[in-house]
Amino acid sequence: MGRSLQLDPQRFLPADRQVRAIAVRLFGAVEALPIVSPHGHTDPRWFSGNEPFEDAVSLLLWPDHYLLRMLMSQGMTLESLGLRPADGAPAAADAAPVATDRRSIWRLFAEHYRVFRATPSRLWLDHVFATVFGLDVRLAPETADHYFDCINAALAAPEFLPRALYERFGLEVLATTEGALDPLEHHAALAESGWKGRIITTFRPDDVVDPDRADFAANVLRLGELTGEDSTSWRGYLAALANRRAFFRTLGATATDHGHPTARTADLSPLNARELFERILAGKRQPGDAEVFRAQMLTEMARMSCDDGMVMQLHAGAWRNHNEALYSRFGRDKGGDFPTQTNFTAALKPMLDRFGSRRDFLLILFTLDESTYSRELAPLAGHYPCIKLGPPWWFHDAPEAMLRFRRQSTESAGFYNTVGFNDDTRAFLSIPARHDLARRIDCAYLAELVATGRLDEDEAGEVAIDLAYRLAKAAYRL
Ligand SMILES: [Zn+2]
Repeated sequence: MGRSLQLDPQRFLPADRQVRAIAVRLFGAVEALPIVSPHGHTDPRWFSGNEPFEDAVSLLLWPDHYLLRMLMSQGMTLESLGLRPADGAPAAADAAPVATDRRSIWRLFAEHYRVFRATPSRLWLDHVFATVFGLDVRLAPETADHYFDCINAALAAPEFLPRALYERFGLEVLATTEGALDPLEHHAALAESGWKGRIITTFRPDDVVDPDRADFAANVLRLGELTGEDSTSWRGYLAALANRRAFFRTLGATATDHGHPTARTADLSPLNARELFERILAGKRQPGDAEVFRAQMLTEMARMSCDDGMVMQLHAGAWRNHNEALYSRFGRDKGGDFPTQTNFTAALKPMLDRFGSRRDFLLILFTLDESTYSRELAPLAGHYPCIKLGPPWWFHDAPEAMLRFRRQSTESAGFYNTVGFNDDTRAFLSIPARHDLARRIDCAYLAELVATGRLDEDEAGEVAIDLAYRLAKAAYRL
């Protein structure tokens, strides 16, 4: 039945035999290190409730926007994959009925599995199939039912419960990401549960600092209710944000995260900032106000980080919800987001003029615009003590892109202005696959440096451990 599925033990390592031998030695020392996952989007409810995952479709297909976007690009509709439009969503002219039979949906996915050849999705999924579920034939139309039955049977077993998988994956710490208004009840339940797994939250205030969100004004009011501050005044709004940061810290948060369309920062006078805030809240905003407000809020968040020690992450440059029709029918995170050209050197200057030399401030930068690594990001990180580079993000979390990142950033920023790997995923089962890939690619790069006389092998070995484990713990203060 079907072709065999076998992971090559030396996958992703250099083709040249001599270089590969070095990479194999380096990787051998990092392969089994614990996983530190300091940024991602898994659901804390999985670990507080510890209920079985439902089935292959709802676990592996529906939440994975990498899969949805590629299948859409091949002409499939989200309805045919079983996704339901949001309540009250406009009807599409050619809308197909929503598929409900999970086995048929899985078969449809298997029929199209070939479109993922040589994409990271294929690498991650094959790793999950082989190592998590022990499947030994390739996913294809003729093995679809075998997969569906094996995966669903496994998910019902106690060793596939979320907490058991956390332990089996060798996770040492796993950070989730929550909005500023989140009550964090699952984190609170986890803290009281006595389970030894370490799941921490991350403070992501986009819902209360981005005036372009339709629910912005309502969110600001809710922020006031939650904190007992008058969040309709500029001073009360800032105090409320500081209050929520403190609350998040009580449930383990060591970091904040900011998903902004650009990296723009601003340093307005208190009077100008107050007037801008009041104008936006009163519904009297002028063109450009939202962008300047987000820019000012990055600087305010930097100031609060200097006060409370939270590490600040900036994920800039995604054009989210670009596909208007898809967004209005299905909402966010369905694969309709794209990289944009992003500027950092000029954009960050107002913030850096205020906090750039502070030793108690750390800003971790992520980009979807690879051209910025050698031109802007690596030179900035190789100068400002507060700046470090996050790992390749989203479209660039893949073998070639990870190698490009090292090639473009190392000569200006070195290894020690980077922060190890983030899996940044909603797909819990793929976490080991992603860290395994990152460790292999870093070892491949280090082996090249050794083979070309740029680094001694003992130093490369030390760097490999730093990249796989120590740098993430240090940067995120874990
Ligand atoms: Zn993220």
